Amino acid sequence: MFQVFKKLDWFFKHYWKRYTFAIITLIIASAIGLIPPRLLGYAIDHIQFQTLTSQLLTIIVVGYLVLIVVHYSVSFIWDYTLFSGAVILERWTRSKLINHFLRMTPTFYGKYKTGDLMARSTNDLKAIAQTAGFGVLTLVDSTTFMFMLIAMMGFSISWKLTLAALIPLPIMAIIMNKYGAAIHARFTEAQAAFGNMNNEVLESIRGVRVIRAFVQEKQDKDRFEAMTEDVYQKNIAVAKIDAMFEPTMKILVGLSYTIGLGYGTVLVFQNVISLGDLVSFNVYLGMLIWPMFAVGELINVLQRGNASLDRVNETIGYEADVKDPEKPMSVTEVETIEFANVSFSYPGTKRNQLENINLSITKGQTIGVVGKTGSGKTTLFKLMLRQYPGVVGEIKVSGVDLERMSLDQIRSWIGYVPQDQVMFSKSVRENIQFGKSDASDEEIYRVMELAHFVEDIKQLPQGLDTKVGESGVTLSGGQKQRVALARAFIKDPEILILDDSLSAVDGKTESKIIAHLREERKNKTTFIAAHRLSAVTHADHIIVLEDGIIAEEGTHEELIQNDGWYKEQYEQQQLEDDKEAIS
Ligand code: ADP
Repeated sequence: MFQVFKKLDWFFKHYWKRYTFAIITLIIASAIGLIPPRLLGYAIDHIQFQTLTSQLLTIIVVGYLVLIVVHYSVSFIWDYTLFSGAVILERWTRSKLINHFLRMTPTFYGKYKTGDLMARSTNDLKAIAQTAGFGVLTLVDSTTFMFMLIAMMGFSISWKLTLAALIPLPIMAIIMNKYGAAIHARFTEAQAAFGNMNNEVLESIRGVRVIRAFVQEKQDKDRFEAMTEDVYQKNIAVAKIDAMFEPTMKILVGLSYTIGLGYGTVLVFQNVISLGDLVSFNVYLGMLIWPMFAVGELINVLQRGNASLDRVNETIGYEADVKDPEKPMSVTEVETIEFANVSFSYPGTKRNQLENINLSITKGQTIGVVGKTGSGKTTLFKLMLRQYPGVVGEIKVSGVDLERMSLDQIRSWIGYVPQDQVMFSKSVRENIQFGKSDASDEEIYRVMELAHFVEDIKQLPQGLDTKVGESGVTLSGGQKQRVALARAFIKDPEILILDDSLSAVDGKTESKIIAHLREERKNKTTFIAAHRLSAVTHADHIIVLEDGIIAEEGTHEELIQNDGWYKEQYEQQQLEDDKEAIS
C-alpha cells in the first residue's frame, strides 16, 4: 500500500521543499489546535475554585482569539501548499499520458478501448493526485497528530485515564480494516461498471445515426438500462457498507466517551485530576476521532491511488512497436522513393497483406494506386507512414531505409489524406491550419480554391469561422474531404498521399481538383489511390493491386492495352458516367 509513495518518489523528490514546508506547517497547526482545550480546563478550574478574576478572563479570551487567527493562517498555508501539490501532480501525469498517446501506433489503440483510456486520463489521475494531497494529510494526521494528542492527554492529564479510554481503539482499527477492504472491493467493481457504461455511451453517441437507421433505439435503450442498473446496484453495495461504517464508529467512540466520563469522574473524586482536566480530556477525546478516521481514509486513498497508478503506469509503459532508430540518419531531400521486395502482414494475421512490392519513384511523379477494396492500397500507405513494425524488404527514401530515419522526419514530409476525414471541433480555418499553423487567410483561400471549397465556404453561416466537427455544423462527406484536401495542400508536403480522398465528390469537381493538383505538384511526389479510375488516368505510373500483389502496372495507355482488370473497370466506369450524363 505504501509503495504508492515509493512509486511517486520522482515527484516528491522534485517537490521536496514544498512538501517539507507543508508537513511542518501542518504539524504546527495541529500543535496550536491542542492549546484551546487546555485553556478551557484552566478556566473551569478557576471557576470551580472561584479564583477567576476579570483580568484573567480577559487574558484567556484574548488568548483564545489570537489562537483562532494564528490557527486560521497556518492552516491556510499548509492546505494551500499541500493540495496545490496534488494539482501539480495531476497536471504532470496528464501531460505524460497525452504525450504518450500521441506517440502510440495503431496497435496500442487496438489494445485499449477509448472509454478505458478516458477513464485512465480522468478518474485514475484524480485518484493518483489524491495520494499527493489527501494521502499525505491523512498520513500525518493519523500518525503525528494522533501521537501528539495521546501524549498531551497522557502527560498533561492522566496516563491511566488515557489508556482506559483508548481500549476501544484496537477494536476500531480491526473493524476499519475489514470495512476498508470490503469498500475497496465493491468500489473497484463499481468503477469497472462505470467504465463499461462510459464506453457504451460513447458508442451510442457515435453510432446514433446507425442506431436510428436500423431502428435499434429500443434495443440500445434496453442495453443501456441494463448497464445503468448494474452501475446502480454496485454503487448501492458501496453505499450499504459506507452506511454501516459510521454508526459502528459512533458506537466505539461513544464507548470511549463513556469510559472517559465514568472513570474520569472517579479520578476527579479521588482528587487525581481536576474538573478542568476532565473537561479538557473529553474535548481531546472528541478531537481524536478525526485521526482515527484518517487511518481508514489513508488506507482507502493509498489503495485507490496505488491501483490507479498501476493502471496509468501500465499505459505509459506500453512501448511503441515502431520506434525511432538510435542514431537516425538525416536525409534532406526526397529525391527518390523505392520499394524493394516489400512484404507485410498485420500483427496477428496469417497471410501477407502485401507481397513482394517493387516500385521506383522519382521526385515530381504521380503514382496511381488502384485495385479492389481490401487489395492493400491503404496498407501500402501506412507502411510509408511507418505505422507498423515488421516490414520485410526495404522502403527507401533517397536511398536510405525508412527504418533508419526519425519518425518525425518521415511524417514531416508526408501529407496524408485518408478516406475517413477527421474534422476537429473547431472552425474551418483552424481545421485547415492543422497543415500549417501560421497560415494566413489569403493562403487558406488559395488552397480552398485548389480543393474546390470556395463556393461551399460562402454557403456556411460564418464563413471560415464556422465551427465544424462534432459540436458544429455537419459537413457533407464531400465537403469534409475537400477541407481535408485543403489541409494537406497548405502543408505543401514533399509526399502527398490521397487515399481515396475524392470518393465523395462528383466527377466534375474531381476533374477540376485533379487539374489543380497536377499544376501545384509538378515538382513533388503524389500518390493517389482511387476507386474511380478517372482520378489516376493522368498519373505517371499506375499500379493495380490484387490481394497485396502488383497485378498490373504501367501508364493509363499501357494498362488499357493490357486488357486486364484495369481496362475492364475503366470501360465499365466510362459507361456508367455516360449513362449518368444522359439521365
Ligand atoms: P484497401 O485500402 O485496398 O481497401 P487495405 O489496405 O485497407 O485495403 O486492406 C488490405 C487487407 O488488410 C484487407 O484484407 C484488410 O482486411 C486487412 N487489414 C487492414 N487493416 C488491418 C488491421 N489493422 N489488422 C489486420 N488486417 C487488416
